[in-house]
Amino acid sequence: MKLFKYILIFLVIALVSVYFLLQNHSIQNRLFENTVRGLFQADEIFMSDALSVAVCGSRAPLPSPNRAETCLLVQAGTSKFIIDTGRGSADNLQRWRVDYSDLEAVILSHLHSDHISDLHEVQFQSWLGGRKTPLSVIGPVGTASTAQGFEQAFELDSIYRSEHHGAILPIEAYGYDVVEFDGDSALIFQNEDTSITAFKVDHFPVDPSYAFKIEYKDRSIVLSGDTISLEVMTEYSKGVDVLFHDALALPLIQEMERISKELGNDIVSKVLFDIQDYHANTIEVADIAKKAEVDLLVFYHLIPAPVNYISEQMFLRGVDEIFSNYHVSEDGTLVSLPAGSDEIFIDLID
Ligand SMILES: [Zn+2]
Ligand SMILES: [Zn+2]
Repeated sequence: MKLFKYILIFLVIALVSVYFLLQNHSIQNRLFENTVRGLFQADEIFMSDALSVAVCGSRAPLPSPNRAETCLLVQAGTSKFIIDTGRGSADNLQRWRVDYSDLEAVILSHLHSDHISDLHEVQFQSWLGGRKTPLSVIGPVGTASTAQGFEQAFELDSIYRSEHHGAILPIEAYGYDVVEFDGDSALIFQNEDTSITAFKVDHFPVDPSYAFKIEYKDRSIVLSGDTISLEVMTEYSKGVDVLFHDALALPLIQEMERISKELGNDIVSKVLFDIQDYHANTIEVADIAKKAEVDLLVFYHLIPAPVNYISEQMFLRGVDEIFSNYHVSEDGTLVSLPAGSDEIFIDLID
C-alpha cells in the first residue's frame, strides 16, 4: 500500500514537471522545430528505376473519411505524372511533400468534377515548388476551356502572390499549358523508356472519357479512369503487371439506394440509381482482371469506399470466386514495379 502511494506521488510530480517544462519557451521552440522540419523536408517516396503508382485519391464523389477524390501519382523512372486530381488530392500530395521538379504533366481522364477539382491547387503547389513555365496538362477535348476557367478564376490571386513574393513566383509561370487529344486511342507521352497511351472508354453521358496504358521499360500498368465494363479494357490490360480499375459495389449502392428511398430522400436515391449505369461493378472488374491475366488488380475510385469491416465484405462480395489477387486501395497505397523484375511491392505512405 505504501509502495502504491510512493508510485502515485512520483507520477504526480513527473506529470507536473512535464507540464511546467512544456511551458518553457526554448523547449516549445525545439519541439516546434522538429515539427516544421518534418513538414518541409522532402522524402523520396518512390523507388528508382521503377514504375510506381501512389494513390493520392481513392474515392468517388460519395464522401468517406480520410479519403480524397480520384488521383493517381505515377513515377516512371525519372518522370512524374498526376493522373486526375479530385477534391482533397492536392492535400495528400502536399502532405507527402511531393517533389514537383520532375513533374511532366497532369493528365486528365475526363472532366467530371471528382477528377479535376484540385487542378488549381496542383498548379499552385507546383508553382510554389519552383516551376518556371505554366503547368503542362494533357487531357481530352474540353480540357483547354476547363483550364482557362481555373486560370481566370485565380488570375487576381496569382497577381497578388507574384507581386508579394517576387522572383520565386514569376507571373509568366502561372497557369496552364494544355495539350488535348481525341480519337479512339492516342500516344500522349513518350520518351526513351516510357510511353503513355490514352484509349477511349464508355462513361456515357460523359464523352469523351479515357483510360491509360503506361509502359516503363519491361513493366506496365493500365488505369481505367471511369468506365463501364468494356472489352477494350481487357484488350489493353492483357499481360500488364497491374490493372487499376474504378469499381462500383452493387451490394452497397443498391442498399444505400433502398434506404435513402425509405427515408424519403428522393434526390439521393435517384443519384444512387443513376450512377449504376456508367461504372463497371466489382464483379465485372474482377472478370476483366481474370481475362486479361494481370498479376494484380487494384480497386480505386471506390463507389462507395468501404468504411468498416462489414462494408468491406459487402464491397468484395463475389470477387474472390473470380479473381483473388486484388488490393482495395486507400489514400497512400503505393504500388512499385522495379524494372527488370517481376516483383510487385505494395506499401502505404503515412
Ligand atoms: Zn469519377
Ligand atoms: Zn466520371
